[in-house]
Amino acid sequence: MRVSLNTQILLGAVTGIGLGLLLTSLGVDSIASQRTLYVAGLLGNVFVDLLKMILVPLVFTSIAVGVANLRAHQQIHRVWTITLAFFVLSMAIAIVIGLSATNLFAPGKGLSLALFQSGTTQVAAQHMTLAEFALSFFHSLFVNPFAALAQGNVLAIVIFALFLGIALVIGGERYRNILVLLQEGLELTLRIVGWIMRLAPIGIMALLTKLVATQDATLLASMGKFVAVVIGSTLLHGAVVLPLLLWLVTRVSPLHFWRGAREALVTAFATSSSSATLPVTLRCVQQHLHVRPEIAGFVIPLGATVNMDGTALYEAAAALFIANHAGIDLNFIQQLIVCFTAMIAAIGAPGIPSAGMVTMVMVLQSVGLPAEAIAILLPIDRLLDAFRTAVNVEGDMVGSLVVQKFVGRSD
Ligand code: ASP
Repeated sequence: MRVSLNTQILLGAVTGIGLGLLLTSLGVDSIASQRTLYVAGLLGNVFVDLLKMILVPLVFTSIAVGVANLRAHQQIHRVWTITLAFFVLSMAIAIVIGLSATNLFAPGKGLSLALFQSGTTQVAAQHMTLAEFALSFFHSLFVNPFAALAQGNVLAIVIFALFLGIALVIGGERYRNILVLLQEGLELTLRIVGWIMRLAPIGIMALLTKLVATQDATLLASMGKFVAVVIGSTLLHGAVVLPLLLWLVTRVSPLHFWRGAREALVTAFATSSSSATLPVTLRCVQQHLHVRPEIAGFVIPLGATVNMDGTALYEAAAALFIANHAGIDLNFIQQLIVCFTAMIAAIGAPGIPSAGMVTMVMVLQSVGLPAEAIAILLPIDRLLDAFRTAVNVEGDMVGSLVVQKFVGRSD
């Protein structure tokens, strides 16, 4: 009997979590546990490195080809606007959920201040105001394409590939060969993604073993209420709001969606990186959820760096948590500022592990909270990052289906 890759990945994930729990119960310091963790780290890194290896050629070719095809069919304007409108709407909903949950449960009130102080002295957070952030964000958009490709700067690659795709279509027949070359390049990279995916069950098992075994239970418990509020509201957004939005617009059932999206969701959870997951996300929406390649090729790479529902929710919730912790009450206007900056911070965060922690400094500073306070969040970030990255990736996949629905209708 041949077990499908989808099922193998699920089995890998369950085994990884089981193994992680086993190691925790045996004691992570024992020699056997250390050896297992070493091997798990090795295998997990190889899997993530392979995904990152294929990421740059994949993003470049998929955006250029996708945009060229959309423009050829006069659809680029519609796709642009619907994509951006969906991204902003879904992140705004996520932020409102995060803020409401934190206001309701008020985690952080009465938490021991000693923990706060000892943590904050260890981290010298880089200060960054909204204006400075905007300056550096816009400065990072237009970059020498060779530098962007070499450094794996996904957003800059997306922008350059957009220009290239549009120029290719405007140039028409004259550049046909280059377009065909890019198309064939895309097919080739997707073939390599297929090979890498065969390793996914083992890679994911290894990553999850390490994730579970290296969690500090006492630390998590000490911030238990905050962890529960963040995970609960992230799950609410991912398991209820996004599927509901999808169903309302496209009538795609949540079950069908999850079956198709599972590989990408599990990979995002295990890697904590939307960018590393991108090859898997693209494969899932095209092969399992039947999104047209030119739409998927545009929405997914852009969404991987710009659309982060989980991150937006987290940034807002964490800012409020820190305010509670420091005994500062944020009024309505200040919470609106948090909404706005949390969205900008999520848009600006690259799709790599703990990126949201870096851009969160700006959210804290926008309402006068101490930037160093992220120190108390860093030790628990690996776990929370897993959840928010999965929801980030889910938002991109839902977005591509929504865009396809609207664009399809206009045909
Ligand atoms: N790890 C997240 C992602 O790749 C970004 C974040 O840290 O929130 O989507």
